[in-house]
Amino acid sequence: MAESPVVPRCQGVTVLGATGSIGTSTLDVIGRHPARYRVHALTAHRSRESLLTLCRRHRPAVAVLEREADAGWLRECLAEEGVATEVRSGAEALVEAAEAAEADVVMSAIVGAAGLLPTLAAVRAGKRVLLANKEALVMSGALFMEAVARHGATLLPIDSEHNAIYQCLPVEHRGGLARHGVTQLLLTASGGPFRGWSADALVGVTPSQACAHPNWSMGQKISVDSATLMNKGLELIEACWLFDASPDQVQVVVHPQSVIHSMAAYNDGSVIAQLGNPDMRTPIAYGLAWPERIDAGVQSLDLFAVARLDFEPPDEVAFPCLRLAREAMAAGGTAPAVLNAANEVAVAAFLAGRLSFTGIAELVARVRDAQPVHPATELEAVLAADAQARHAAERHLASL
Ligand code: NDP
Ligand code: MG
Repeated sequence: MAESPVVPRCQGVTVLGATGSIGTSTLDVIGRHPARYRVHALTAHRSRESLLTLCRRHRPAVAVLEREADAGWLRECLAEEGVATEVRSGAEALVEAAEAAEADVVMSAIVGAAGLLPTLAAVRAGKRVLLANKEALVMSGALFMEAVARHGATLLPIDSEHNAIYQCLPVEHRGGLARHGVTQLLLTASGGPFRGWSADALVGVTPSQACAHPNWSMGQKISVDSATLMNKGLELIEACWLFDASPDQVQVVVHPQSVIHSMAAYNDGSVIAQLGNPDMRTPIAYGLAWPERIDAGVQSLDLFAVARLDFEPPDEVAFPCLRLAREAMAAGGTAPAVLNAANEVAVAAFLAGRLSFTGIAELVARVRDAQPVHPATELEAVLAADAQARHAAERHLASL
């Protein structure tokens, strides 16, 4: 007699950063599987209209905004429409949404350091954590991974490259890559909108040019990071923590088509790659359903349309951010937190027209040179390094 299929229990999901690019893609995948997933909480920073639209559609138990004034507005709108969502505000509400018993899964899709505390809260509550917010891991790598192990959280990478590597590694890959015959992780990079440009040509780049990514549609901050290659630098650090790799075990490979999302090389000469259309719903669906597979709404790859795949080394002269990130990882301790904080300030200044494109790497290097490196075994040390680096970056900006 054929066994009847096991129907998984409906899982509660909290989406941190629900109004962003990753957040909306996550809700798109969840909406395709109403019997598998229900939305527990949705959070946003200040986009109250967007959050209202999402609450109407997904009927979460809880919605969170940063400011009480915005929360009050949303509360009134939802009450008028008879939507029974509890609307809350502030940092504590964000943490509570992440650690709530009703949430089995937490999508960490806030951009930047603001995501660190709620993501860590989800880890400490032993959730299945879908990690898009790479900055949280970059800042606090050692204590983040230690908390994952100690609290039995299930950490699934959503960043497309790390999700690809996860799919290319053996299911059990803890204890160092060499133990599993893996010699190198090949982290692919599109090269961003300015691939092939000289350092001189990059000086006059505008925010709208930098945000026009050739293959991916993403939030502004990660789009600028992709253009400077800081995104690949942050991803190199992310890969070291996620897969217990040293920086020299991670090779960045520029691959302009963004079809191979990354690879793992083995000691028998095999290179295993994960391919697909550049659509974040694939890694999101993988993270939600792992170890099963579910429909993500993504078209399957047409290799005849792709026709060719190209590879080249990154240009670290025109794009020094990659080198700065590798050096920060090698320095260890609070150095990656300093790198991340200085970069966040620099990117915001670039987007606001206060800093040139090439000024981003210059500002990060200046802040890095002026900040001492401390051990990063306590959260307080990480948060202090973050605050000091932001302060130093603002001071440098003001002096320009
Ligand atoms: P977006 O800018 O599109 O969205 C960011 C989300 O975070 C929004 O919901 C925003 O709310 C919220 N948010 C911003 N600041 C705060 C804050 N201070 N406190 C609370 N919430 C805040 O970003 P993306 O979706 O592009 O990226 C999210 C994360 O995922 C980043 O870490 C990025 O590096 C990573 N990632 C993204 C990829 C992509 O394809 N987009 C790919 C791989 C990784 P509001 O709308 O109210 O501002
Ligand atoms: Mg990525």
